[in-house]
Amino acid sequence: MKSQSYLTKEFDIQNDFERFDAKNDIFNRALWDEKVKPKDFFTSYDIANYKPKKSKGFDHWDYALRNASWHMTDVVGELKFETEGRVEGFTDYYSINRPGSKNKVSISSSTETSMRLKKAAVTLGAGSAGICSIDERWIYSHQFSRKNGESRPMDLPKSLKFALVFTMPMNYQLGQTFPAALSGTATGDGYARCLNTANALAQFITNLGYEAVASMNDTGLNIPMAIEAGLGEYGRHGLLITPKFGPNVRIAKVFTDLPLEIDAPVDFGVKQFCNVCRKCADACPVKAIPQGDPESKPPNFSSLKGIKKWTVNAEKCFKFWVGMNTDCAICIRVCPYNKDYSKWWNRIGLKLAGGPLRSVMIWLDRVLKYGERKKPEKWWRESIK
Ligand code: SF4
Ligand code: SF4
Repeated sequence: MKSQSYLTKEFDIQNDFERFDAKNDIFNRALWDEKVKPKDFFTSYDIANYKPKKSKGFDHWDYALRNASWHMTDVVGELKFETEGRVEGFTDYYSINRPGSKNKVSISSSTETSMRLKKAAVTLGAGSAGICSIDERWIYSHQFSRKNGESRPMDLPKSLKFALVFTMPMNYQLGQTFPAALSGTATGDGYARCLNTANALAQFITNLGYEAVASMNDTGLNIPMAIEAGLGEYGRHGLLITPKFGPNVRIAKVFTDLPLEIDAPVDFGVKQFCNVCRKCADACPVKAIPQGDPESKPPNFSSLKGIKKWTVNAEKCFKFWVGMNTDCAICIRVCPYNKDYSKWWNRIGLKLAGGPLRSVMIWLDRVLKYGERKKPEKWWRESIK
């Protein structure tokens, strides 16, 4: 299949490749592995436990807004935690769909159906949408229960053959304030909007009489699926880089048995750009992003094995988050692809970055001071446009 050979070419998948076990995800390891277990990190997401810091961006207002942005995601995601141990959206896919139509809608062609589905995705809030077939390599080998600390078999129904993958742009202005507790509002808000769009889309498909499962960070790896679905390319910082929003996106998906037409991966020169740009690696405070060439041996078992690519050291990265008491996205903030593409000059810059002038674009990015941190207090003072 075309998309799979693209990934094989880009990532050089080796014979010792193994599917990823969700138990080894750094956020799940934080619950069972003493090496990375934080004393208090998750606790600050309950406002009763937040600890203000002297630095700007970490006061009561900042934590209150960040935690509020996570509110709906947490409440909906934990509806079945006590009874079934599920954390939907993070360790388990969503199961909140109402029963749909008993009759299957009539379908004229998979091309038309795919177009309608993508239109629905964008109408329901997505920034961009694409379709790939479900490749088992990107589905976790096991799920993980945060309630009892045990792995359980992957239970994604085999009848689901396609994934409608979508991006959700995060707030650009807030993203400029990373790192701060305030900045985490961009993350929480991105997840909340993914939750809404993914579940509305799953309900839409269910209403058409087909099966659909809404999923966020659970069940499988979003980035390879997004690449196969033609939503962007892979960057040195281990994130998806999209032509519409750069790396400033969250990703979610809906698995379905609706007959769809898959998209082709895109190539707008990101790999060649990352080969000469190391802005994220230079800016990372804990040097978690590789400066060198892609490698197949990951820094630790919290990343995929047997696939030659740039891999962020998840242990170092998470340790920094714990120290900061909030999430970090400095690597997104400084990335030259992180621009407001509603501006025509940034769209021209994107085109130039994909060609022989890429080194000039890297120089310009530095000279024009793109990616510099905005002070959190400045963000609070700015008027609403
Ligand atoms: S999130 Fe922060 S600590 Fe983690 S890789 Fe990016 S810059 Fe480094
Ligand atoms: S900062 Fe530069 S090297 Fe890092 S992902 Fe963005 S373009 Fe690639």
